[in-house]
Order: sequence, then structure tokens, then C-alpha cells
Amino acid sequence: MRHIIDPTDLSREELDGVIDLALDIIDNREKYSEACKGKKLATLFYEPSTRTRLSFTAAMMELGGNVLGFTDAQSTSASKGETVADTTKVISCFADIIAMRHFEEGAAHVSAMNATIPVINAGDGSHSHPTQTLTDLLTIKREIGHFDNIKIGFCGDLRFGRTVHSLIKALARYEGVEVILIAPDELRLPDYMKYEVCEKNNIPYREVKTMEEVMPELDVLYMTRVQKERFLDEDEFDRVKDAFQLTAEKLKAAKPECRVLHPLPRVNEITVDVDSDPRAAYFRQVENGKFVRMALILQLLKWAEEGENSQKLLPEGTVVNQHRCSNRRCISNMENVDRLFRPATDGSGIYRCVYCESKPAK
Ligand code: ASP
Repeated sequence: MRHIIDPTDLSREELDGVIDLALDIIDNREKYSEACKGKKLATLFYEPSTRTRLSFTAAMMELGGNVLGFTDAQSTSASKGETVADTTKVISCFADIIAMRHFEEGAAHVSAMNATIPVINAGDGSHSHPTQTLTDLLTIKREIGHFDNIKIGFCGDLRFGRTVHSLIKALARYEGVEVILIAPDELRLPDYMKYEVCEKNNIPYREVKTMEEVMPELDVLYMTRVQKERFLDEDEFDRVKDAFQLTAEKLKAAKPECRVLHPLPRVNEITVDVDSDPRAAYFRQVENGKFVRMALILQLLKWAEEGENSQKLLPEGTVVNQHRCSNRRCISNMENVDRLFRPATDGSGIYRCVYCESKPAK
């Protein structure tokens, strides 16, 4: 069974394949209108969502399939204490494919370990959001034409912004990508992203404090919301919540072919006067999300039918129940699952949690 828990579950060829399929869907909508006839997508959303859930729903409807699911864990057996593992086993009896969003980091991973149908991670805490990444890639493809050799500035909450983590991991599959990290100290990119993703893949990265100083060099400016719901300390959130704001005035310094992306929702980090600038691609980005999710559903169902079974949910060298995760939002600290740790791939000799990539607790 193949699942999409993380963008790295797809090779570069597979990423390109999903993007190309999405482009074909855009050009030939009719051809795909019954492609999922008789199939059911279960949308299991334990956390709020507008675009992701509705675009999954619209995607399955446009493929001629059906959708069932929930939008609020309080109305499900989760409120009675049912685990992600058990809920997954149950839903596997009703549906052909699952899209899961959860506040517990690693929830989709645990779901995949217990599913007999493909699982798509629709966002797990501040860890990963691979289908937003496919949306971002399709947008870059349509707006800029290629992924190789782009200079992309990530601005805002790089610490908790799961879309940032996932997009950098996917871009690591391409050549000549350069990353500029624009964030205050409190919201810097997690270490595992710097060492195991950027440095290991030879992606040059620079950390800067203002968007103004890099604006003229960027091909893509990826704006993000400060993720209020992930802060444990409200004062800390208050200190950084207005850290950055893109305005029409600031965008004047960008290249004409630069594109502004944002996974949305926006709060105050992009003023509305930017919306009418042709470089503002974030609402076009939303529509791409539907097409790319259509492509992903088709691809995963095809792999399931073919019995494609190459995905390893336990990385090489995984040790079981020897460490405890330092991340209190990790599913291994919230549900009764095996605590799984793999050796870090940067040669540092440390272990990282298989579910959320955090270090072991001291
Ligand atoms: N919609 C995106 C996500 O689910 C970005 C955000 O919420 O700020 O991660």
C-alpha cells in the first residue's frame, strides 16, 4: 500500500508525475469526470480546515466519487477515547481512501500503519502538510514554469508552519534551489529541517530578519500566518504575531516575474492592497489545490489496485520503545503507540522520532 504522509514519500519522478497528471486534468476535465465512480473518500478532520477539506471533497466529486467523514472530532468516538489506530481500522471498512487532518503530530503515520486503504496526510500538527506542498508545486509550475534554480523566500512562522517544512523537503528533490528564511528568532526553522533537509541536500539557505533586504532577489515569496494555535505561551505569540506584513508598497521592490504564495488563511501578514497585483498568486493557488488532490487520489487508488507495496513505514535502523519523544504534541505522547526512533540521516549520531522528527526527551 502507498500512502502520502510526507512529501518525501514521493520520488522526484513521482512528484513530477502527480503534477503532470494535475495539468492533464486541468486541460481535460471531462476525461476524468467518472474516474472514481463507485469509490469513497473518507475525510477525517480532527482540526479546523476550509480549503484542504473542501478541496478534497470537490476533488472527489469532480472525479465522480463520493465523500464521507467528519469535521469535528467532538462528534466522533475520539471524544470517547478511541485511538487513531482503531478509528482507521473502522474507516478502512467503509471507504477506499482516507484524508486525515490531526493536531497530533504523526497521526497520519499511525493511521497508515493501521490502514488497509491509502492514507493521505492532510496536515499533522506543525509537522507536515504534503498536499499543500503539491498545491504549491503546481502553482510554481503554472506561474514560473519550473522548480529547478528558483530562489524562494519563506517568511513568517517557519517554526510551526507545516507547509514550509513540507515544501522545503519537496524542493530538496530539485536542482539549484536556494532558500531564504525570513523569521524572528522565536519562529526560526526547526533544526532537523536545517541539518537533515537543507544541509544534507546541499540546499543553500540564509536566515535574515526582514523581507525588504531580500525582496529584489526572490522568484517566490512564500508568506505564512503565525500559527496561533500552536503556541503554549500566549505572551510569546503576542510578541511575534505582527512580525511581518507584506504591503503593496514593499512588493514594489520585487521582480516583475516574482510570485507571492500563501497557503491561507491570511490574518494580517498580507494587506489586501497586494491582492490586485498580478504577482499575488495565492488565490490562484487555492484552485490548484483541487486539481492536484484529484491527481493524488487517482494515483494512490491506482497504486492500491496494482498492489504497489514498496513504502516502508519503519525506516532502516528504527528502534522500538527505547526513547521517549521530546515533543509533547507527538502522537507517541498522546496515544498508546510504540515509540519509534530512527537514526538521524545527517550523521550526527542522534535519533529522531519516526512520527514527528523531534529528538528524544533527555
Ligand atoms: N492552511 C495551512 C495549514 O493548514 C496554513 C495555515 O493554517 O496557516 O497548515
